[in-house]
Amino acid sequence: MAWKTLDDVDVKGKRVLVRVDINVPVENGHVTDTTRIDRIVPTIKDILARGGTPLMIAHFGRPKGQANPEMSLAQVIPALSAALGQEVALIDTLVGAEAMTAPTGPVMLLENIRFHPGETANDQTFARRLAALGDVYCNDAFSAAHRAHASTEALARLMPACAGRLMQAELSALEAALSNPQRPVGAVVGGAKVSTKIELLENLVNRLDVLVIGGGMANTFLAALGANLGASLQEPDYFDTAKDIIAQANKAGCRVLLPSDGLVAREFAAGAPHEVSVLDATTKLAADQMVLDAGPDSIAHIKMAFEGLKTLIWNGPLGAFEIAPFDTATVAAAKIAAKQTRDGVLISVAGGGDTVAALNQAGATDDFTYISTAGGAFLEWMEGKTLPGVAALEGKRA
Ligand code: AMP
Repeated sequence: MAWKTLDDVDVKGKRVLVRVDINVPVENGHVTDTTRIDRIVPTIKDILARGGTPLMIAHFGRPKGQANPEMSLAQVIPALSAALGQEVALIDTLVGAEAMTAPTGPVMLLENIRFHPGETANDQTFARRLAALGDVYCNDAFSAAHRAHASTEALARLMPACAGRLMQAELSALEAALSNPQRPVGAVVGGAKVSTKIELLENLVNRLDVLVIGGGMANTFLAALGANLGASLQEPDYFDTAKDIIAQANKAGCRVLLPSDGLVAREFAAGAPHEVSVLDATTKLAADQMVLDAGPDSIAHIKMAFEGLKTLIWNGPLGAFEIAPFDTATVAAAKIAAKQTRDGVLISVAGGGDTVAALNQAGATDDFTYISTAGGAFLEWMEGKTLPGVAALEGKRA
């Protein structure tokens, strides 16, 4: 690993600028899901235990470089204080000497960093002013690492820098899954559209032994091969892309597994009457029929494909998992991967978009080796891109 951790820097008696992602959902001034807050607790506690003083830097919403009370981090303070078991002081005088003369507690949080235009502009002068607030920089916001902003990128180049515990866990899991995986390595890529995942698919076929394609995007692949899938979600503009990805996979020796059958309905609704239909290049559905999930034969094939895998990466559901019974394939496949992981024979890493919700629904979250809550950053990692926030920690240019 080319980046440092909290074990490699001395924080005793030092003020540590910790970039965190606490961009949590808030309704009527109350945090409705504390997952992101809970995940940064180990880093803050670790800094405190080592005698450092954490000053957290975070964004909240998209205030576009202007102070906006609706996007004040004051709303997050009660949940953050509860999670840490101690009062967190909000430093709302923002950046500059004033901030540091404000009353400081053992744990501080700087007001929404995106109130300043210099943040998203990755402005060096702004970053230097930020750097003057502390002695050490610790980045614990992997989910913001795909952005080159002052607090995610520039700061790491201006001060002694390390990864926080969450960032460390996330990077270690992703490096183990994709950069240097135990083989054979496979992936499940599902979800709605090919168009949003072209780069991801292109990168994966060159690295994997097996690629399981599911969800609406599998419809586009099947239709590209000649199937008539009626009213199914599909993207005719991407038929050539789909064929190209299959050709690239064949060249690279990556087996592509498309659904061999599907649950077909006439309505996109929970409990909609449905039947199982064989899916191949010759399939002809009626104009009002839709494939909403992979069928039992596909699940059996997925099970066989998973057997013998040592590493599995998962992004996206295999069907319209929000509406039962069209969650069947996603839940079944997630349970198989969860069991293999529990049995110690599989490293399973999942993340991005709806994946966490889908795996939660399968009750598989606790068994997977690692579940990333980073959306965009996880996807960019799967696309093989260098994330600016990670490159800066490594002292490299993105
Ligand atoms: P994504 O955000 O690309 O991962 O896509 C997730 C969405 O794809 C979910 O809301 C699913 O309901 C939807 N989806 C997956 N499979 C299908 C399908 N066969 N037909 C319609 N929507 C689907």
